[in-house]
Amino acid sequence: MQHRKITFIGAGNMARAIIAGLVAGGYPAKSISVCAPSAKNRDALAADYGIVSSGDNLACAREAEVVVLAVKPQMMADVCQPLQQVDFSGKLVLSIAAGIQVSRFYQLLSDKLSIVRIMPNTPSLVGKGMSGLYAPPQVSQQDRDYTGDLMASVGKVCWVDDENGINGVIAAAGSAPAYFFLFMEAMQQEAERMGFDSQTARELVQQAASGAAALVEANPDTPLSTLREQVTSKGGTTAEALRVFNEQQLPETVAKAMRAAVSRAQEME
Ligand code: NAD
Repeated sequence: MQHRKITFIGAGNMARAIIAGLVAGGYPAKSISVCAPSAKNRDALAADYGIVSSGDNLACAREAEVVVLAVKPQMMADVCQPLQQVDFSGKLVLSIAAGIQVSRFYQLLSDKLSIVRIMPNTPSLVGKGMSGLYAPPQVSQQDRDYTGDLMASVGKVCWVDDENGINGVIAAAGSAPAYFFLFMEAMQQEAERMGFDSQTARELVQQAASGAAALVEANPDTPLSTLREQVTSKGGTTAEALRVFNEQQLPETVAKAMRAAVSRAQEME
């Protein structure tokens, strides 16, 4: 892949996850910079990954070929305002913010912008990310290819043709690691109540979760319902646990939660 000079504006969890994945995947650290007002986060990133750290968003954006906007959606307008002085021609802008549409960036920065929206998730940190990507029609094939390769170096990518598809990616992947963490937390707590020490309880749950994910990955053509049925003997213990989940409407609850994530993203637009 091309190693364009890339700067991250914002030094939070998601910037860290992507930077860590990029450096581990061989993106040259000297081609990556990070900018944030507080030195603590950005200097920690510089120390951990050997990248360049700066407190000057404007200078970083001017110097970079690719500008990643990695701040909270509520901060975006304030962060973009001074960047209006940057000549974005020839540059690629990548936004990872939930709920801010491309049309808003045309207002905030320039209507000539080459911009791709990315909806990543934090497993990018360990090369297991899942990113949804959307580019408006005017973005060149070269910029699309670069962005696809960039995010493929920290996980898998899924292009959506319609910008609204990004909100579906938020519900199904961007926010999803937290759903699994909640499920695992609840399981760990109950395992502890059953008498396991916290480390053992965590290991039991963690290995079951990563084992289940590995089985899913190893059997891409097997429907998930079949994998579930394969571990559910009639009248057995798993069947009894699943009966409770179904009685408590777990599938409906999951659907409601995902729709709530989409609604929240729509409200932010
Ligand atoms: P975060 O709060 O961890 O980080 C935000 C960063 O922005 C902080 O480092 C802060 O110092 C920096 N910042 C604040 N003001 C700034 C300014 N004026 N200039 C430069 N930097 C500034 O947030 P996060 O979880 O990393 O989320 C960042 C973006 O990523 C959000 O827009 C969010 O929608 C998106 N996102 C997050 C996740 C996730 O799982 N965390 C997943 C997908 C997308």
